[in-house]
Amino acid sequence: MCGIVGYVGGNRSVGVLLGGLRRLEYRGYDSAGIAVIGEDGTLGTRKHAGKLQVLVDDVEANPLQDGPTGIGHTRWATHGGPTDANAHPHLGDDGKLALIHNGIIENFAELKAQLVAEHPETVFTSETDSEVAAHLVGYAYRDTQDVTEALRRVVTQLHGAFTLLVLYRDQPGVVVGARRNSPLVIGLGEGENFLGSDVAAFVE
Ligand code: GLU
Repeated sequence: MCGIVGYVGGNRSVGVLLGGLRRLEYRGYDSAGIAVIGEDGTLGTRKHAGKLQVLVDDVEANPLQDGPTGIGHTRWATHGGPTDANAHPHLGDDGKLALIHNGIIENFAELKAQLVAEHPETVFTSETDSEVAAHLVGYAYRDTQDVTEALRRVVTQLHGAFTLLVLYRDQPGVVVGARRNSPLVIGLGEGENFLGSDVAAFVE
């Protein structure tokens, strides 16, 4: 299991996420990525196979619009090799939502087949089990218009162990988390809150 960090607070997500991922490096990983809802309302992502430093260098060279809402991930590949495309976050609803996942969705193949039958227009950009969950949340959001309700619907369909964090461009200030047989810690601060796969993610 690798690392997850989520942040809602001041306009400094990028630094908080990269710092959190740095402190989760000890868990081991093969790829890293972040997604941030910028102050301008855009959803930006950067993700790379390899060392966290590759991601940090890219963010320095190609800065993301910073903002108060973000998620970060270190991956240990289980479904699909360690490539940039398979690194998290994964996007859904035409890039309006970003999802990160630690763990394994055991029934992802059945869910993917069902998804393709119902929504043949879905474009998959990775080989991961996780991306299926991203698309499912996106389609659920069309009904619920609320990311918490959308994720709640989707997790009832998932088999296996997971920690999931999702953010939605149209709901800035919200990061939704769900877990089953996989850790997720919540840090409540003053004017800012944190999520992490362990407290190392935000202890600083
Ligand atoms: N199963 C997911 C993948 O292969 C998540 C792996 C992890 O826990 O980092 O991308």
